[in-house]
Amino acid sequence: MTRQVRPADDAAAPSTLPTLSFAVPRRGKPPQHLADLDDAGRAAVLTEMGHPGFRAKQVSMHYFGHLTRDPADMTDLPAAVRQELTDILLPDLLTEVKRLEADGGATVKTLWSLFDGVKVESVLMGYSDRATLCVSSQAGCGMACPFCATGQMGLTRNLSTAEIVEQVRRAARACRDGELTRGPSRLSNVVFMGMGEPLANYKAVIGTVRRLVAPPPSGFGMSARNVTVSTVGLVPAIDKLSREGIPVTLALSLHAPDDELRTELVPINTRWTVGEALDAARRYFDATGRRVSIEYALIKDMNDHGWRADLLGEELNKRGRGWVHVNPIPLNPTPGSIWTASDPDVEAEFVTRLRAAGIPTTVRDTRGSDIDGACGQLAVQG
Ligand code: SAH
Repeated sequence: MTRQVRPADDAAAPSTLPTLSFAVPRRGKPPQHLADLDDAGRAAVLTEMGHPGFRAKQVSMHYFGHLTRDPADMTDLPAAVRQELTDILLPDLLTEVKRLEADGGATVKTLWSLFDGVKVESVLMGYSDRATLCVSSQAGCGMACPFCATGQMGLTRNLSTAEIVEQVRRAARACRDGELTRGPSRLSNVVFMGMGEPLANYKAVIGTVRRLVAPPPSGFGMSARNVTVSTVGLVPAIDKLSREGIPVTLALSLHAPDDELRTELVPINTRWTVGEALDAARRYFDATGRRVSIEYALIKDMNDHGWRADLLGEELNKRGRGWVHVNPIPLNPTPGSIWTASDPDVEAEFVTRLRAAGIPTTVRDTRGSDIDGACGQLAVQG
Protein backbone atom coordinates (compact mmCIF):
# COMPACT_ATOMS: atom_id res chain seq x y z
CA MET A 1 0.00 0.00 0.00
CA THR A 2 1.25 3.47 -0.82
CA ARG A 3 0.83 5.89 2.01
CA GLN A 4 0.40 9.47 0.98
CA VAL A 5 -0.17 12.81 2.59
CA ARG A 6 -3.78 13.32 3.55
CA PRO A 7 -5.31 16.40 1.96
CA ALA A 8 -7.54 18.72 3.99
CA ASP A 9 -11.13 17.52 4.36
CA ASP A 10 -12.48 20.66 2.83
CA ALA A 11 -10.99 20.16 -0.59
CA ALA A 12 -13.89 17.76 -1.19
CA ALA A 13 -16.09 18.46 -4.18
CA PRO A 14 -13.95 19.33 -7.19
CA SER A 15 -15.39 22.25 -9.11
CA THR A 16 -15.52 20.19 -12.29
CA LEU A 17 -18.35 18.05 -10.92
CA PRO A 18 -21.75 18.61 -12.48
CA THR A 19 -24.23 20.76 -10.60
CA LEU A 20 -26.76 17.91 -10.78
CA SER A 21 -24.90 15.89 -8.21
CA PHE A 22 -24.06 18.63 -5.74
CA ALA A 23 -27.15 20.84 -5.74
CA VAL A 24 -27.88 20.25 -2.06
CA PRO A 25 -30.80 22.33 -0.81
CA ARG A 26 -29.60 24.47 2.11
CA ARG A 27 -31.38 23.75 5.34
CA GLY A 28 -30.49 23.95 9.00
CA LYS A 29 -27.39 21.99 9.96
CA PRO A 30 -27.61 18.94 12.21
CA PRO A 31 -26.43 19.66 15.77
CA GLN A 32 -22.68 19.23 16.18
CA HIS A 33 -21.68 15.97 17.83
CA LEU A 34 -18.32 14.63 19.01
CA ALA A 35 -18.25 12.25 16.02
CA ASP A 36 -18.06 15.32 13.76
CA LEU A 37 -14.78 16.34 15.44
CA ASP A 38 -11.30 14.95 15.86
CA ASP A 39 -9.84 14.48 19.35
CA ALA A 40 -8.50 18.03 19.58
CA GLY A 41 -11.79 19.49 18.36
CA ARG A 42 -13.75 17.60 21.01
CA ALA A 43 -11.48 18.84 23.78
CA ALA A 44 -11.67 22.41 22.44
CA VAL A 45 -15.47 22.40 22.55
CA LEU A 46 -15.42 21.39 26.22
CA THR A 47 -12.75 23.92 27.20
CA GLU A 48 -14.78 26.64 25.55
CA MET A 49 -17.73 25.65 27.71
CA GLY A 50 -15.61 25.76 30.87
CA HIS A 51 -14.97 22.03 31.30
CA PRO A 52 -11.60 20.29 31.47
CA GLY A 53 -10.60 19.15 27.97
CA PHE A 54 -9.72 15.62 29.14
CA ARG A 55 -13.40 14.90 29.75
CA ALA A 56 -13.83 14.71 25.97
CA LYS A 57 -11.79 11.53 25.97
CA GLN A 58 -13.94 10.01 28.69
CA VAL A 59 -17.18 10.86 26.90
CA SER A 60 -15.72 9.57 23.60
CA MET A 61 -14.84 6.29 25.30
CA HIS A 62 -18.45 5.88 26.37
CA TYR A 63 -19.67 6.61 22.87
CA PHE A 64 -17.21 4.63 20.71
CA GLY A 65 -15.99 2.06 23.24
CA HIS A 66 -19.11 1.35 25.28
CA LEU A 67 -21.59 2.40 22.56
CA THR A 68 -23.64 4.53 24.97
CA ARG A 69 -24.84 8.14 25.16
CA ASP A 70 -26.76 7.63 28.39
CA PRO A 71 -25.39 9.85 31.19
CA ALA A 72 -26.36 7.20 33.76
CA ASP A 73 -23.73 4.86 32.26
CA MET A 74 -20.93 7.41 32.67
CA THR A 75 -20.01 6.53 36.21
CA ASP A 76 -16.41 7.73 35.85
CA LEU A 77 -17.70 11.30 35.40
CA PRO A 78 -18.90 13.51 38.26
CA ALA A 79 -22.69 13.04 38.47
CA ALA A 80 -23.25 16.80 38.35
CA VAL A 81 -21.75 17.22 34.87
CA ARG A 82 -22.80 14.01 33.09
CA GLN A 83 -25.98 15.44 31.61
CA GLU A 84 -24.33 18.69 30.56
CA LEU A 85 -21.39 16.94 28.88
CA THR A 86 -23.84 14.68 27.07
CA ASP A 87 -25.88 17.67 25.92
CA ILE A 88 -22.75 19.34 24.57
CA LEU A 89 -21.04 16.39 22.88
CA LEU A 90 -23.74 13.79 22.25
CA PRO A 91 -26.93 15.44 20.98
CA ASP A 92 -29.66 12.99 19.98
CA LEU A 93 -29.43 12.63 16.19
CA LEU A 94 -31.48 9.57 15.19
CA THR A 95 -34.97 8.62 16.28
CA GLU A 96 -36.11 5.13 15.38
CA VAL A 97 -39.38 5.34 13.47
CA LYS A 98 -39.80 1.79 12.25
CA ARG A 99 -37.99 -1.51 12.30
CA LEU A 100 -38.65 -4.38 9.88
CA GLU A 101 -37.15 -7.85 10.09
CA ALA A 102 -36.53 -10.47 7.41
CA ASP A 103 -34.63 -13.75 7.08
CA GLY A 104 -35.90 -14.87 10.47
CA GLY A 105 -34.44 -11.83 12.21
CA ALA A 106 -31.00 -12.04 10.56
CA THR A 107 -31.78 -8.91 8.49
CA VAL A 108 -33.12 -5.77 10.15
CA LYS A 109 -34.04 -2.58 8.31
CA THR A 110 -34.46 0.53 10.44
CA LEU A 111 -36.13 3.77 9.38
CA TRP A 112 -34.62 6.76 11.18
CA SER A 113 -35.88 10.30 11.55
CA LEU A 114 -33.16 12.97 11.64
CA PHE A 115 -33.25 16.22 13.65
CA ASP A 116 -35.23 18.00 10.90
CA GLY A 117 -37.69 15.18 10.29
CA VAL A 118 -35.84 13.94 7.20
CA LYS A 119 -35.88 10.13 7.02
CA VAL A 120 -33.17 7.63 6.09
CA GLU A 121 -32.81 3.88 6.36
CA SER A 122 -30.05 1.49 7.32
CA VAL A 123 -29.95 -2.30 7.00
CA LEU A 124 -28.14 -4.67 9.36
CA MET A 125 -27.35 -8.17 8.14
CA GLY A 126 -26.06 -11.04 10.26
CA TYR A 127 -24.09 -13.88 8.62
CA SER A 128 -22.41 -16.85 10.25
CA ASP A 129 -19.02 -15.14 10.22
CA ARG A 130 -19.80 -11.43 10.14
CA ALA A 131 -22.34 -8.69 10.76
CA THR A 132 -22.63 -6.03 8.07
CA LEU A 133 -24.33 -2.67 8.28
CA CYS A 134 -25.44 -0.90 5.10
CA VAL A 135 -25.49 2.85 5.92
CA SER A 136 -27.06 5.83 4.21
CA SER A 137 -24.79 8.79 3.49
CA GLN A 138 -27.44 11.08 1.98
CA ALA A 139 -31.20 11.45 2.30
CA GLY A 140 -32.25 10.55 -1.21
CA CYS A 141 -29.72 10.65 -4.03
CA GLY A 142 -28.93 12.98 -6.91
CA MET A 143 -27.58 10.34 -9.29
CA ALA A 144 -30.97 9.46 -10.81
CA CYS A 145 -30.21 5.84 -11.79
CA PRO A 146 -33.58 4.69 -13.20
CA PHE A 147 -33.50 1.17 -11.70
CA CYS A 148 -32.85 2.37 -8.14
CA ALA A 149 -35.69 3.46 -5.83
CA THR A 150 -33.47 5.98 -4.01
CA GLY A 151 -32.39 7.42 -7.36
CA GLN A 152 -36.03 8.14 -8.15
CA MET A 153 -36.46 10.30 -5.03
CA GLY A 154 -33.92 12.95 -5.88
CA LEU A 155 -31.57 14.39 -3.28
CA THR A 156 -32.97 15.87 -0.07
CA ARG A 157 -29.71 16.57 1.76
CA ASN A 158 -26.28 15.32 2.77
CA LEU A 159 -25.95 13.64 6.14
CA SER A 160 -23.37 14.91 8.61
CA THR A 161 -20.52 12.66 9.74
CA ALA A 162 -22.21 12.08 13.09
CA GLU A 163 -25.54 11.19 11.46
CA ILE A 164 -23.74 8.40 9.59
CA VAL A 165 -21.60 7.38 12.58
CA GLU A 166 -24.69 7.20 14.77
CA GLN A 167 -26.25 4.63 12.39
CA VAL A 168 -23.13 2.56 13.03
CA ARG A 169 -23.22 2.96 16.81
CA ARG A 170 -26.88 1.92 16.97
CA ALA A 171 -26.15 -1.17 14.85
CA ALA A 172 -23.06 -2.07 16.88
CA ARG A 173 -25.21 -1.89 20.00
CA ALA A 174 -27.91 -4.04 18.42
CA CYS A 175 -25.27 -6.69 17.61
CA ARG A 176 -23.80 -6.52 21.08
CA ASP A 177 -27.22 -6.82 22.70
CA GLY A 178 -28.07 -9.93 20.66
CA GLU A 179 -30.82 -8.31 18.59
CA LEU A 180 -29.75 -10.17 15.43
CA THR A 181 -30.67 -13.85 15.25
CA ARG A 182 -27.50 -14.69 13.32
CA GLY A 183 -23.90 -13.51 13.32
CA PRO A 184 -21.27 -12.34 15.78
CA SER A 185 -21.96 -9.96 18.64
CA ARG A 186 -19.53 -7.46 17.15
CA LEU A 187 -20.40 -5.37 14.12
CA SER A 188 -17.59 -6.27 11.74
CA ASN A 189 -18.42 -4.63 8.39
CA VAL A 190 -19.82 -1.34 7.17
CA VAL A 191 -20.84 -0.77 3.55
CA PHE A 192 -21.77 2.65 2.17
CA MET A 193 -24.48 1.11 0.00
CA GLY A 194 -27.60 2.58 1.57
CA MET A 195 -29.26 5.74 0.37
CA GLY A 196 -27.08 8.27 -1.40
CA GLU A 197 -23.88 8.57 -3.38
CA PRO A 198 -21.14 8.54 -0.73
CA LEU A 199 -18.52 10.29 -2.84
CA ALA A 200 -20.94 13.19 -3.49
CA ASN A 201 -20.84 13.78 0.30
CA TYR A 202 -17.09 13.29 0.50
CA LYS A 203 -16.27 15.28 3.60
CA ALA A 204 -18.83 13.58 5.84
CA VAL A 205 -18.05 10.15 4.41
CA ILE A 206 -14.29 10.37 4.91
CA GLY A 207 -14.96 11.77 8.40
CA THR A 208 -17.05 8.66 9.07
CA VAL A 209 -14.37 6.35 7.65
CA ARG A 210 -11.80 7.91 10.01
CA ARG A 211 -14.09 7.36 13.02
CA LEU A 212 -14.79 3.76 11.93
CA VAL A 213 -11.13 2.78 11.84
CA ALA A 214 -9.63 4.85 14.66
CA PRO A 215 -9.32 2.83 17.89
CA PRO A 216 -11.44 3.91 20.89
CA PRO A 217 -11.76 6.53 22.27
CA SER A 218 -11.27 8.25 18.90
CA GLY A 219 -13.42 5.80 16.94
CA PHE A 220 -14.80 2.25 16.78
CA GLY A 221 -11.53 0.52 15.85
CA MET A 222 -12.88 -1.40 12.85
CA SER A 223 -10.62 -2.79 10.16
CA ALA A 224 -10.42 -0.59 7.03
CA ARG A 225 -10.64 -3.67 4.84
CA ASN A 226 -14.09 -4.36 6.30
CA VAL A 227 -15.36 -0.96 5.17
CA THR A 228 -16.67 -0.62 1.61
CA VAL A 229 -17.38 2.64 -0.18
CA SER A 230 -19.62 2.16 -3.21
CA THR A 231 -19.78 4.77 -5.95
CA VAL A 232 -21.32 5.46 -9.34
CA GLY A 233 -17.81 6.51 -10.39
CA LEU A 234 -17.04 10.12 -9.43
CA VAL A 235 -13.50 9.98 -10.75
CA PRO A 236 -11.85 12.93 -8.92
CA ALA A 237 -13.33 11.73 -5.63
CA ILE A 238 -12.07 8.15 -6.23
CA ASP A 239 -8.59 9.57 -6.76
CA LYS A 240 -8.90 11.65 -3.63
CA LEU A 241 -10.00 8.60 -1.63
CA SER A 242 -6.97 6.70 -2.89
CA ARG A 243 -4.73 9.38 -1.32
CA GLU A 244 -6.26 9.17 2.18
CA GLY A 245 -3.99 6.36 3.34
CA ILE A 246 -6.99 4.34 4.60
CA PRO A 247 -7.32 1.18 2.50
CA VAL A 248 -11.10 0.80 2.46
CA THR A 249 -12.62 -1.42 -0.21
CA LEU A 250 -13.88 0.47 -3.25
CA ALA A 251 -16.96 -0.76 -5.12
CA LEU A 252 -17.76 0.69 -8.52
CA SER A 253 -21.35 0.49 -9.73
CA LEU A 254 -20.72 -0.20 -13.39
CA HIS A 255 -23.85 -2.04 -14.61
CA ALA A 256 -22.75 -1.90 -18.27
CA PRO A 257 -19.37 -2.26 -20.05
CA ASP A 258 -20.32 0.11 -22.90
CA ASP A 259 -21.00 3.84 -22.69
CA GLU A 260 -24.21 3.76 -24.67
CA LEU A 261 -26.05 1.54 -22.21
CA ARG A 262 -24.27 2.81 -19.10
CA THR A 263 -25.39 6.36 -19.83
CA GLU A 264 -28.97 5.10 -19.71
CA LEU A 265 -28.49 3.15 -16.48
CA VAL A 266 -26.07 5.46 -14.65
CA PRO A 267 -26.62 9.00 -15.99
CA ILE A 268 -23.37 10.39 -14.49
CA ASN A 269 -21.66 8.33 -17.22
CA THR A 270 -22.07 11.39 -19.44
CA ARG A 271 -19.49 13.06 -17.18
CA TRP A 272 -17.11 10.11 -16.61
CA THR A 273 -17.17 7.27 -19.10
CA VAL A 274 -16.81 3.54 -18.48
CA GLY A 275 -13.13 3.79 -19.44
CA GLU A 276 -12.45 6.72 -17.14
CA ALA A 277 -14.26 5.10 -14.21
CA LEU A 278 -12.36 1.82 -14.71
CA ASP A 279 -9.03 3.65 -15.00
CA ALA A 280 -9.76 5.39 -11.68
CA ALA A 281 -10.70 2.05 -10.11
CA ARG A 282 -7.40 0.57 -11.28
CA ARG A 283 -5.51 3.56 -9.85
CA TYR A 284 -7.32 2.95 -6.57
CA PHE A 285 -5.99 -0.62 -6.54
CA ASP A 286 -2.46 0.61 -7.30
CA ALA A 287 -2.56 3.14 -4.46
CA THR A 288 -4.15 0.92 -1.81
CA GLY A 289 -3.52 -2.70 -2.80
CA ARG A 290 -7.22 -3.35 -2.26
CA ARG A 291 -8.99 -5.39 -4.90
CA VAL A 292 -11.85 -3.35 -6.36
CA SER A 293 -15.42 -4.70 -6.60
CA ILE A 294 -17.40 -4.08 -9.75
CA GLU A 295 -21.14 -4.06 -9.07
CA TYR A 296 -23.38 -5.17 -11.91
CA ALA A 297 -27.15 -5.34 -11.37
CA LEU A 298 -28.38 -7.97 -13.82
CA ILE A 299 -31.44 -6.61 -15.61
CA LYS A 300 -33.38 -8.92 -17.92
CA ASP A 301 -32.70 -8.20 -21.62
CA MET A 302 -31.06 -4.90 -20.69
CA ASN A 303 -27.45 -5.58 -19.71
CA ASP A 304 -27.32 -9.37 -19.28
CA HIS A 305 -26.19 -10.40 -22.78
CA GLY A 306 -23.33 -12.83 -23.23
CA TRP A 307 -21.43 -10.36 -25.38
CA ARG A 308 -21.63 -7.78 -22.58
CA ALA A 309 -20.11 -10.27 -20.14
CA ASP A 310 -17.29 -10.83 -22.66
CA LEU A 311 -16.81 -7.09 -23.18
CA LEU A 312 -16.73 -6.52 -19.41
CA GLY A 313 -14.08 -9.23 -19.05
CA GLU A 314 -12.05 -7.59 -21.82
CA GLU A 315 -12.30 -4.10 -20.33
CA LEU A 316 -11.16 -5.40 -16.93
CA ASN A 317 -8.33 -7.58 -18.28
CA LYS A 318 -7.10 -4.70 -20.43
CA ARG A 319 -6.20 -2.98 -17.18
CA GLY A 320 -4.31 -5.93 -15.70
CA ARG A 321 -4.96 -9.12 -13.76
CA GLY A 322 -5.81 -9.74 -10.13
CA TRP A 323 -6.96 -6.22 -9.34
CA VAL A 324 -10.70 -6.64 -9.52
CA HIS A 325 -13.65 -8.93 -8.96
CA VAL A 326 -17.23 -8.70 -10.15
CA ASN A 327 -20.37 -8.83 -8.04
CA PRO A 328 -23.41 -9.44 -10.22
CA ILE A 329 -26.56 -8.46 -8.28
CA PRO A 330 -29.91 -9.89 -9.38
CA LEU A 331 -32.04 -6.78 -9.93
CA ASN A 332 -34.35 -6.07 -7.01
CA PRO A 333 -37.80 -4.81 -7.92
CA THR A 334 -38.58 -1.14 -7.35
CA PRO A 335 -41.95 0.64 -7.51
CA GLY A 336 -43.02 1.67 -11.01
CA SER A 337 -40.06 0.00 -12.71
CA ILE A 338 -40.68 -2.14 -15.77
CA TRP A 339 -37.42 -4.00 -15.34
CA THR A 340 -36.93 -7.39 -13.74
CA ALA A 341 -34.03 -9.62 -12.79
CA SER A 342 -32.37 -11.80 -15.40
CA ASP A 343 -33.49 -15.41 -15.76
CA PRO A 344 -31.34 -17.81 -13.70
CA ASP A 345 -29.80 -19.49 -16.77
CA VAL A 346 -28.88 -16.10 -18.25
CA GLU A 347 -27.34 -15.05 -14.93
CA ALA A 348 -25.39 -18.33 -14.80
CA GLU A 349 -24.11 -17.82 -18.35
CA PHE A 350 -23.00 -14.25 -17.51
CA VAL A 351 -21.04 -15.54 -14.53
CA THR A 352 -19.53 -18.43 -16.52
CA ARG A 353 -18.25 -16.07 -19.23
CA LEU A 354 -16.64 -13.72 -16.72
CA ARG A 355 -14.96 -16.62 -14.94
CA ALA A 356 -13.80 -18.03 -18.27
CA ALA A 357 -12.10 -14.65 -18.83
CA GLY A 358 -10.29 -15.15 -15.51
CA ILE A 359 -12.35 -12.65 -13.53
CA PRO A 360 -13.30 -13.74 -9.97
CA THR A 361 -17.08 -13.40 -9.86
CA THR A 362 -19.54 -13.86 -7.00
CA VAL A 363 -23.27 -13.27 -7.28
CA ARG A 364 -24.35 -11.08 -4.39
CA ASP A 365 -26.69 -12.66 -1.89
CA THR A 366 -29.44 -10.08 -1.73
CA ARG A 367 -30.92 -9.76 1.69
CA GLY A 368 -34.14 -8.15 2.73
CA SER A 369 -35.99 -7.83 -0.57
CA ASP A 370 -39.26 -8.78 1.17
CA ILE A 371 -38.92 -5.73 3.44
CA ASP A 372 -37.75 -3.44 0.60
CA GLY A 373 -34.37 -3.44 2.28
CA ALA A 374 -32.26 -4.84 -0.54
CA CYS A 375 -29.91 -2.95 -2.90
CA GLY A 376 -31.74 -0.16 -4.65
CA GLN A 377 -34.94 -0.51 -2.64
CA LEU A 378 -34.35 2.09 0.03
CA ALA A 379 -36.79 4.94 -0.35
CA VAL A 380 -38.89 6.81 2.17
CA GLN A 381 -41.73 9.27 2.01
CA GLY A 382 -41.17 12.92 2.85
N1 SAH B 1 -24.71 5.37 -4.86
C1 SAH B 1 -23.82 4.30 -4.58
C2 SAH B 1 -24.18 3.43 -3.39
C3 SAH B 1 -25.60 2.96 -3.20
S1 SAH B 1 -26.30 1.61 -4.04
C4 SAH B 1 -23.63 3.44 -5.80
O1 SAH B 1 -24.41 3.56 -6.72
O2 SAH B 1 -22.70 2.67 -5.84
C5 SAH B 1 -25.52 0.11 -3.79
C6 SAH B 1 -25.61 -0.78 -5.02
O3 SAH B 1 -26.96 -1.23 -5.31
C7 SAH B 1 -25.16 -0.03 -6.28
O4 SAH B 1 -24.32 -0.84 -7.02
C8 SAH B 1 -26.47 0.19 -7.00
O5 SAH B 1 -26.29 0.41 -8.34
C9 SAH B 1 -27.19 -1.11 -6.69
N2 SAH B 1 -28.62 -1.05 -6.99
C10 SAH B 1 -29.40 0.04 -7.11
N3 SAH B 1 -30.66 -0.31 -7.42
C11 SAH B 1 -30.68 -1.66 -7.50
C12 SAH B 1 -31.71 -2.61 -7.75
N4 SAH B 1 -32.96 -2.22 -8.00
N5 SAH B 1 -31.38 -3.91 -7.74
C13 SAH B 1 -30.11 -4.30 -7.49
N6 SAH B 1 -29.11 -3.46 -7.20
C14 SAH B 1 -29.39 -2.14 -7.23
